[in-house]
Amino acid sequence: MRPTLSWTPTEDLPPGSTDPGPVADALGAGGVLVLSGAGLSTESGIPDYRGEGGSLSRHTPMTYQDFTASARARRRYWARSHLGWRTFGRALPNAGHRSVAAFGRHGLLSGVITQNVDGLHQAGGSEGVVELHGSLDRVVCLSCGALSPRRDLARRLEEANPGFEPVAAGINPDGDADLTDEQVGDFRVVPCAVCGGVLKPDVVFFGEAVPPARVEHCRELVRGAASLLVLGSSLTVMSGLRFVRQAAQAGKPVLIVNRDPTRGDRHAVTRVALPLGATLTAVAAHLGIPVEDRSGAGGPDA
Ligand SMILES: [Zn+2]
Repeated sequence: MRPTLSWTPTEDLPPGSTDPGPVADALGAGGVLVLSGAGLSTESGIPDYRGEGGSLSRHTPMTYQDFTASARARRRYWARSHLGWRTFGRALPNAGHRSVAAFGRHGLLSGVITQNVDGLHQAGGSEGVVELHGSLDRVVCLSCGALSPRRDLARRLEEANPGFEPVAAGINPDGDADLTDEQVGDFRVVPCAVCGGVLKPDVVFFGEAVPPARVEHCRELVRGAASLLVLGSSLTVMSGLRFVRQAAQAGKPVLIVNRDPTRGDRHAVTRVALPLGATLTAVAAHLGIPVEDRSGAGGPDA
């Protein structure tokens, strides 16, 4: 089965609102479960998949099927991902991430689930973040299951590929840089240091299922939440949309902040179509909550 990579509205959706008031009200009441997507990290310099200039217009994310089927696909993936990691390692949390962390510190959140693999919620100061699609800063062996830090693999890849300095045409939210086959060249992939097996980033690829225990943990978080706040996700893939449906079915308000219409709009009490950083900062100010600037804290490589 090929994953769904795009979504086109088939019904007339209400236009986005420019009033963040309902978001402030929900946060003021507490018990908010945050579900974040790639749109939250665009202000950190990591482009979204969709929308204007979205990376899906020039890039098809690696699927699990392609990755496991071919050594050539893995070479291509790791060359591009290795280059992308340098950018991800420099990315810093933005005002949106810092606002979410501030809401958490003030006891307004019941949890944070992110579809992002960039580690920027944690870098911004959030704790207990559930990484629905895993994290680029870990690597897993498909043979023995050993987990290892991405920085170790990055060092081994640097050693195996001296002089690999291509200039990428762009970077994508899955950490994949845009390189031509010529630029990938004869990039050398390294095996698991324990057993010699195939290494994969500890992220859920398109076409791969989120581990069931992780899904159940998220369902539990939805059950315990007073409301669900979606930040920067088009909710195109079912892995996030199902929690929106669960919340709506349980009668919990779903609030969305996203520039463009989303697949979850018909379940939401409002979709605020405003920029995330400025909106969340304004909501925090309205609630009298200071947002710490931790911009020196660094990204996932720090
Ligand atoms: Zn292994």
